[in-house]
Amino acid sequence: MNNSKMSFIFISLISIIFFTSCVANNSSVQHPSSLYKSNDYALYKKGKENSFSQLARTQLGDEKWVWKIEDANEIEILSDSALVQVPLKDQNIGGLFENGYQSVPILCYHKFGPDRTSPLTMPPDIFNQQMKYLKDNGYRVVSPADLLDFLKYRRQIPRKSVLITIDDGYKSIYDIAWPILKKYNFTATVFVYTNYVGISKKALTWDDLRELKSYGFSIGSHTVSHADLTKKNPDEKPDDFYHRITEELLLSKKIIDKELGQDTIGLSFPYGRQNRNVLKLAEAAGYKIAVTVDRGSNPFFTNPLALNRDMILKKEMKTFISRLHTFNNVSLK
Ligand SMILES: [Zn+2]
Repeated sequence: MNNSKMSFIFISLISIIFFTSCVANNSSVQHPSSLYKSNDYALYKKGKENSFSQLARTQLGDEKWVWKIEDANEIEILSDSALVQVPLKDQNIGGLFENGYQSVPILCYHKFGPDRTSPLTMPPDIFNQQMKYLKDNGYRVVSPADLLDFLKYRRQIPRKSVLITIDDGYKSIYDIAWPILKKYNFTATVFVYTNYVGISKKALTWDDLRELKSYGFSIGSHTVSHADLTKKNPDEKPDDFYHRITEELLLSKKIIDKELGQDTIGLSFPYGRQNRNVLKLAEAAGYKIAVTVDRGSNPFFTNPLALNRDMILKKEMKTFISRLHTFNNVSLK
């Protein structure tokens, strides 16, 4: 526990001496009642009746905010008699701490299946191990909208946030990846190129995508035809090239918006390829988040339209774990 936390709890304990009797005698206070409350924090005695989930439900309005309580407390050292801090306001927006700053890894998958020779195919048993590792080690899967809030310095997100993305729109997302993700209560972000949707039995259909979306998946664009957006055809005039790229970005968004009834904010550049002009066109088309395949994690000051992302190609755990970089140690004092 660091000094500021120690002093916070010490001050809180002093306050408890003055306030406990008054809280205890106030019949209008709802259970569980706080021992101390400021604008920023409430303090509770942990006990069987005060689980983190229950505190999230009663004090933060929804169990989905349980990570805020977990992040504010050192869960591994909390006994049943310990005091629990419940943050009442967003803390550490942008993930800035006195010993460094948060960074959000984005993982990139394509196909799932037993083929161990294709670099783009992840076998189900390995994918399961990877997802289990995320769950067992306290990682939380976030959406592009959550990530955008973090990058725009608008809202706190879990300290160990990670984005799982799956490109192209293969049926194995639905048949293989989804059941595994479900086991761990995870979702993913799927980037489809619209020409491929429903084209064969190997491709996701719009109905599949609607079903994945209703479960909590995010669906983004991977353009219309999966063309390299930086590459002009040999005989193409600059104007025609410009219009073709604009169409790849605009039309795919328009189709996805209409099919799924949404305002699509996410884009994955085919082959991860982009340049300054492509970024401008992507922004003009209405995308707010776009991912490359440039290796690395993403602190809040990363350009939201040129995010780093790690392709998960190796069918093992060591490299996977090395990609889960969620914190940069730098003294900001
Ligand atoms: Zn692709």
